[in-house]
Amino acid sequence: MLSFLLATALAFSEANARTAFASACNLVASCTPRDAGTARGHFAANHLRNAALLQGANARIETFTAPTPVGMREFHNVVAEWEVCPTGKWVVVVSHYDTKPFVKCPGANDGASTCGILIGMAQAASKCRNLPGNLMLMWLDGEECMFAYGPSDGLWGSKEAAMRLKTSGRDIKSVICLDMLGDANLKISLPRNTNAELRRLAIDCARRTGHEGLVTEMRESVKDDHLPFRSLGFSAVDLIDFDYGSAPGLNDYWHTSRDTIDKISTSSLLIAGEIACEMVNALWR
Ligand SMILES: [Zn+2]
Repeated sequence: MLSFLLATALAFSEANARTAFASACNLVASCTPRDAGTARGHFAANHLRNAALLQGANARIETFTAPTPVGMREFHNVVAEWEVCPTGKWVVVVSHYDTKPFVKCPGANDGASTCGILIGMAQAASKCRNLPGNLMLMWLDGEECMFAYGPSDGLWGSKEAAMRLKTSGRDIKSVICLDMLGDANLKISLPRNTNAELRRLAIDCARRTGHEGLVTEMRESVKDDHLPFRSLGFSAVDLIDFDYGSAPGLNDYWHTSRDTIDKISTSSLLIAGEIACEMVNALWR
């Protein structure tokens, strides 16, 4: 308890948001496309690992193979850890980095934006002198399905990561999944098929960081990287802005060539990063 009182909270600053934006720009510029199971996907994993290392993170790549509709393919998750207490609870924050196959989508918002937030969080965590708890950040491969979500299509990275967490025997408090949170017109939704307690926490953390009303519950369920973690019994939530288009409800930038970096704003990355870090701090307590 004393060590916790001496610890510094994880804070997401404007400098971290600028890092997040620059990282998202770099990922899109250097690694498009980055479809799962391709050499470009592997290249993107190396790029993200290097970006995390540059921020002082202890980052590694976890490579695995899995069946896909077009045969066995190789995947690469990037993982960074800040271990404060080996027997303590872990909070895990994840984002996918792969692009939707076959549609020529740069994935500026769908993937790169939240990968950038995680690089910003890596910067914040590495600079934090006394982190209050154990933190794991994961840049996941293969969220996007090729044809239709199923046992051998989509969510490959999160399935593998969830399985590895389960066998690690570590005490995983919660998994927070971030997706599509760079939209200049940010509205964060919490899909129905997420942990109810974490949904309440996300709404509360938005209020505490001065963004009351920005995070709301959605009636629908969403297929995203939180699902494999939930399937293995972890408490997991998904923060997603699923209204991404030229007019409300159209969602016409999503999975198209129009998902470009000009749609992303540093201020949205700042807001999402602040809420995510506030959730992490609350979960460590
Ligand atoms: Zn997508």
